[in-house]
Amino acid sequence: MIAAIRGTQDILPGTIERWQFVEATACRVFEQYGYAEIRTPIIEREELFAKGTGETTDIVQKEMYAFTDKDGERIALRPEATPSLVRAFVEHSLEQAMAVPKIYTLGPMFRRERPQKGRYRQFHQLDVEVFGVKDPSVDGEVIDLAWTLIRELGITGVELAVNSVGCPVCRPSFAAALVAALGEDVQTLCGDCQRRAVANPLRIFDCKVPADQRVIDALPHTIDYLCDECRTHFEAVRRYLDVFGIPYTLSHRLVRGLDYYTRTTFEVLAGQIGAQNAVLGGGRYDGLVKQLGGPDRVGIGFAAGVERLVLALPDTLALPEKRPAVFIAAIGEPAREAALTLLRDLRRAGVNAQVEYEGRSLKSQMKRADRLKAPLVFILGEDELARGEVSVRRMATSSQESVPLSGAVEFVKTSQ
Ligand code: ATP
Ligand code: MG
Repeated sequence: MIAAIRGTQDILPGTIERWQFVEATACRVFEQYGYAEIRTPIIEREELFAKGTGETTDIVQKEMYAFTDKDGERIALRPEATPSLVRAFVEHSLEQAMAVPKIYTLGPMFRRERPQKGRYRQFHQLDVEVFGVKDPSVDGEVIDLAWTLIRELGITGVELAVNSVGCPVCRPSFAAALVAALGEDVQTLCGDCQRRAVANPLRIFDCKVPADQRVIDALPHTIDYLCDECRTHFEAVRRYLDVFGIPYTLSHRLVRGLDYYTRTTFEVLAGQIGAQNAVLGGGRYDGLVKQLGGPDRVGIGFAAGVERLVLALPDTLALPEKRPAVFIAAIGEPAREAALTLLRDLRRAGVNAQVEYEGRSLKSQMKRADRLKAPLVFILGEDELARGEVSVRRMATSSQESVPLSGAVEFVKTSQ
């Protein structure tokens, strides 16, 4: 037996219904907010993520699956969607093609992380992006969209954390303040943090090493170092959240694990799904489109992890059970032919009807109907055929009646 690769999983009937519910709900809500779906390839040039996600991030440095293709080109399995969507936005001039470039996508992402509950090497994201709008009202819309998604999924016990990480104008003074505040303490931090302190001090907030946390918690807060424009922007975003009635907490450590964020960052944490509790995260990325070779356009978006949303769904969520409306049991070859014709007619009428493929005994056909949980069984034998009728058994009550073959489709439709 060849088993599935570590950190990947098969999503089987019994669970897939919850996935379908999450995906269908997300598509409905995103479309309602005026976002259009696009799909991009799973493989991209490695460079796209090195430049986009950021050379100094854990994702690119440690987690990305990349390989040299047969023609020598470096290819990566996408670890996140945003750089791909930016590439598509630029490559297809979506700014001209769409009245408002608001897009969403869903699909698998790949990161070589340590597999555990809520963390996989192939996982799935729902991703939303808006391009070209500087106004803080769009930050409000995107956060409201995230919040609405959570509410429509029925997920409770969640917390929205927001922060502002500033922009290239105020970032350098904050980075300097971080390094100054760390002082000698930097030597007590883990090796990763020591490297971060030199290459990209903001990334220190990503550290998950328990021994480092006391020092990191005491570091300065980004929002105390914002330039005037960033401060005004963030105040407006918070005002929109208040106007929309969306409760949030300010989280000064929320810098997010990607280099491209500017100004607004946010995350939704779910209480009951274990240690990997971030169900979605996002923020503004005002320099990314230009950095990837496009026009100077701002952007904002978020990505939600489908596995974690599925975990966070309420236990009481009642999804309609998938089962046939009717099962057709046939005895004898002429009846079988009539059964297959009836099956076709039922299906053309939009009814979920099933039949026994192998010509088995009536008893085993009834067993199959039972396993499929069909509420109705049509029984077709020589007698029924001669009378132009079908016998109907209601499985719940074991009661039986006859209906004309010609009215069989209508009968199922009216009993549904
Ligand atoms: P985490 O801190 O949990 O590693 P992250 O900040 O790396 O999350 P993002 O890159 O912002 O995550 O991705 C957005 C969402 O995708 C996360 O909030 C999470 O729900 C989901 N996600 C990220 N990595 C994984 C993974 N390896 N397995 C499952 N879901 C993931
Ligand atoms: Mg991560």
